[in-house]
Amino acid sequence: MDNYDLIVIGAGPAGYAAAIRGAQLGLKTACIDKSVGKNGKPTLGGTCLNWGCIPSKTLLDVSHKYAEAKERFAGFGIEVGDVAVDVPRMIANKDAVVAQLTGGIGALFKGNGVTALAGHGQLLSRKRVLFTPHEGEPATLSAEHVVLAPGSIPVEIPPAPQDGARIVDSTGALEFDAVPPRLGVIGAGVIGLELGSVWGRLGSNVVLLEALDEFLPMADARIGREALREFGRQGLDIRLGTRVMGAEALDGGVQVAYQDKNGDHSVTVDKLIVAVGRRPFTDGLLAPDSGVHIDERGFLYVDDLCATEVPDVYAIGDVVRGPMLAHKGMEEGVMVVERIAGHKPVVNYDCVPSVIYTHPEIAWVGKTEQELKASGEEVKVGAFPYAATGRALAAGEKTGIAKVVADAETDRVLGVHIFGAQASELVAQAVVAMEFAATAEDLALTMCAHPTLAEAVHEASLAVSGNAIHMVNRRKR
Ligand code: FAD
Ligand code: NAD
Repeated sequence: MDNYDLIVIGAGPAGYAAAIRGAQLGLKTACIDKSVGKNGKPTLGGTCLNWGCIPSKTLLDVSHKYAEAKERFAGFGIEVGDVAVDVPRMIANKDAVVAQLTGGIGALFKGNGVTALAGHGQLLSRKRVLFTPHEGEPATLSAEHVVLAPGSIPVEIPPAPQDGARIVDSTGALEFDAVPPRLGVIGAGVIGLELGSVWGRLGSNVVLLEALDEFLPMADARIGREALREFGRQGLDIRLGTRVMGAEALDGGVQVAYQDKNGDHSVTVDKLIVAVGRRPFTDGLLAPDSGVHIDERGFLYVDDLCATEVPDVYAIGDVVRGPMLAHKGMEEGVMVVERIAGHKPVVNYDCVPSVIYTHPEIAWVGKTEQELKASGEEVKVGAFPYAATGRALAAGEKTGIAKVVADAETDRVLGVHIFGAQASELVAQAVVAMEFAATAEDLALTMCAHPTLAEAVHEASLAVSGNAIHMVNRRKR
């Protein structure tokens, strides 16, 4: 029986980070993953690199360039003539990016001495793992420490059974071979907005059917309102408070029946994306006597340090509580392995940034003004419009705001919320500030290069105390 210091099941961002860090720290490490890529060969990187963050951001970035060229360049004085989209080439470019990055994980494994095992892993009792390779005989491996990182898969709903062709999940929506003239999306959450934006920019008429009455309830309320207005202006038809009753693929398209407060409706589309959330993926992961427990929501049960109830067995990433985000899983992977090696890091779950990669982007870290007020905390708020930021105007990016929320008494920053171009990059500045327990004054005293979009966050932090320079302050000193 092969014996390892560390066996990781799953080579998504949580698992590969744990495996690489483990090997760096001198642990004899194996990482088992069963994913097979589009080329039929084993692939590393999990959902994030193959079917998630990276392919979706490639299509988002490219479709944004297309929309800019088609709709905005002329206004900037750039004549480009007819702009056309070649979907197969766009998809091939996305595949090339995926191949480069997944191959990169293979190279990192090799360079750091991680043994990559292609196939299925199942946790047995006593820190043993049954490895069933794609080819060849199963083998039982043993380890001093096991890390479970099997990730998540899309939630399916009975009214919209997927056929992989016209009714698809997010993975199918990254592979359309042409722009669907009419696109339906069930769920106006992160995936619905991102993939709806991709195909909407390329020419689809997009209808999003969202069950909740409120748009993006997890985001700051003002930003949610402004984003809803802006996405509507961009052509996304977002219908809130809807209940999908059925979806049927017919000759003329997919007919989606739904209800809202005004009664029964139907809409016909060429493709329908189901994007109603993801669930932890634990199928076949645990032998009945593994000792690891699954909670009532399907997540592997762990404590704050990602330890399961079995000594030396840990679980990280999408399969455990907390936001389903690649960077959260990576931090957990590194934390767990460093603790195995005797270090004492922790993951600061109060400082996990969230981003929705629409245009403009929505990004935040910490709590919203509404959440804080609802829990009885007294806060002060500073907001600054992109429209008053020189660089935003220079770049033609005047839509959006930056908002800083601070404790009314201590001035400590409790949340930063941004709706605007490059919000995903700007939020990093806020994460650093919050990680170091900065006050709004600390942020305000931190110099930003001029002209930059980051100045919007700087001015918002000045506005917390009524000291913004480039707008008239509502709150006077
Ligand atoms: P995964 O990435 O899901 O990897 C788990 C791996 O384990 C998979 O390869 C799986 O095949 C393998 N596996 C599972 N069970 C076994 C087993 N028993 N044996 C062997 N192998 C097994 N997050 C962001 O932070 N930013 C984004 O921009 C972003 N965009 C996204 C866009 C889309 C369309 C989707 C679907 C997701 C996106 N996410 C994004 C979420 C992100 O992809 C996940 O949070 C992240 O991939 C989770 O990492 P993980 O390592 O926990 O699991
Ligand atoms: P989500 O939770 O963001 O959105 C799902 C939406 O579907 C919600 O608004 C929900 O109210 C709605 N919904 C649920 N059931 C419905 C129904 N029957 N009819 C209509 N609407 C319904 O989930 P998602 O967009 O599927 O994304 C899954 C996960 O992947 C998220 O948790 C997210 O963290 C992660 N992800 C992150 C990024 C990013 O970081 N940019 C991008 C994509 C995905």
